[in-house]
Amino acid sequence: MSNFKILGKDKMARAGVLTTPHGEVKTPVYMPIGTVGSVKALAPDDLKKVNTQIILGNTYHLYLRPGSKLIKKMGGLHKFMGWDYPILTDSGGFQAFSLGAMIEHGVRKVGRSMGPASSVSQVRPRGTNKPPAVDARDPSSESPIDQNYLRVRKSGRVYNEKSKKITRRVTVEELSQKEKGKKRSVSKWYEHSSSASQSKKEEPEILSKITEEGVEFTSHLDGGKHLLTPEKSVEVQLDLGSDIILVLDELLSPLSSPSYVAQSLERTHRWEQRSKAYFEKHCEKKREKRGMLFGILQGVYDRGIREKEAMWISKVGFDGFSIGGSFGTSKYWPSSRHPDEGQDLDWAASKAIYETIGWVTPLLPDSAPRHALGIGEVLDLFECIERGIDMFDCVAPTRRARNGSLYISPKNGGKQKNKFVMAIERSEFKEDKKAIDPGCSCYTCKNFSRAYLRHLYLSAEILYHRLASIHNVYFMLNLTNEIRGSILEKRFKKLKNLWIK
Ligand SMILES: [Zn+2]
Repeated sequence: MSNFKILGKDKMARAGVLTTPHGEVKTPVYMPIGTVGSVKALAPDDLKKVNTQIILGNTYHLYLRPGSKLIKKMGGLHKFMGWDYPILTDSGGFQAFSLGAMIEHGVRKVGRSMGPASSVSQVRPRGTNKPPAVDARDPSSESPIDQNYLRVRKSGRVYNEKSKKITRRVTVEELSQKEKGKKRSVSKWYEHSSSASQSKKEEPEILSKITEEGVEFTSHLDGGKHLLTPEKSVEVQLDLGSDIILVLDELLSPLSSPSYVAQSLERTHRWEQRSKAYFEKHCEKKREKRGMLFGILQGVYDRGIREKEAMWISKVGFDGFSIGGSFGTSKYWPSSRHPDEGQDLDWAASKAIYETIGWVTPLLPDSAPRHALGIGEVLDLFECIERGIDMFDCVAPTRRARNGSLYISPKNGGKQKNKFVMAIERSEFKEDKKAIDPGCSCYTCKNFSRAYLRHLYLSAEILYHRLASIHNVYFMLNLTNEIRGSILEKRFKKLKNLWIK
């Protein structure tokens, strides 16, 4: 018996119910991110009050700290964090490729075993235009990437309009081997060239190493070495007591060569099958108690590849399907592949994602939920739901809240151009008695003014984080629920037109 039921459809958009061991989830659904067993600044009670149905936990973080065995001993993640509603966990692969390997998205999957795929072209000293003093690809250089005793503290993306390039600033804590314990913060600029650096001569750094067995990575906490195999990932997620488990896959970069893509996808197929075999063997046998296993549809921005992958994964069969991989000019990577690049990077990135989703959803089984991995802005919701997506997870609401970016609906000035947010720090809100988003029924909007929120933000008060997060999470969850209603009443397009102009 399927644990997903579609209750209504409006063209490709679906409204349904997903039954998990910890209760039902109405779809489309938005999952706030509880990285280390907490949704930042929000207690489980706050989450329930903003109508959270399910959250996402990060396997990588929980596995490293406090450890999945400890969480199992404490009665599982639900009990440990005081959350008795459903939890979806990721495989840990995403962070193993990125954080464990020095956080850089562009270089996350570079290794000698993996072909010439480095997208870090240069490291520039901060604030200069001089040629790089260090070549990140030269293993003998003082590149931070090959030094395990560096800890990443911050990473931010900057898009340079003029050069049409993305630059990423990474602040690392440098612990020299000689003077262990002495810390020094260093800012580095990584410049991602918009044209792929494909020279065969390049010798990329080993960051995380991918083998047939799994992914070897270095812990960002203590530099310890770990091997994450498909079986290990499922085992950790079973220890956590997750309701929805994701398989281990290799995240592809838009800069990978076609032959590498083919090789990687083949390996991901074997990993997914190994994950499934392990899950079938070790999960609770009783169906009603059993968690679910979602497969991940990998690939790059290429219709042929994506369609083939969709057909492959449908044939293997999973309880649900998460769509991941590279979307060409994605939200997180620069790329040379999408024709729109250079005009409006954000829009081109979003368009590539929607296009890719539109290629694959018609090929996936109708009877299983579909999850868009890691995206969830207002436009994403409408465009992806319209193409048959049921589940979203994204750090946007909580991260934006902490950065002073609060969601507003169209009637209060929210539009695609301002990404439906306002910057609370602006002086125009100094004496503004209105709620953040008048008409919003969240606790924050019902009780506090923009002026007060602005004051808390500027004073760096802890309360600001909670109040702002309550609003932003509520806003997204409420919008998703409104969309659900519109699907059931077959007026999705009408609602979309009110928001997206
Ligand atoms: Zn609100």
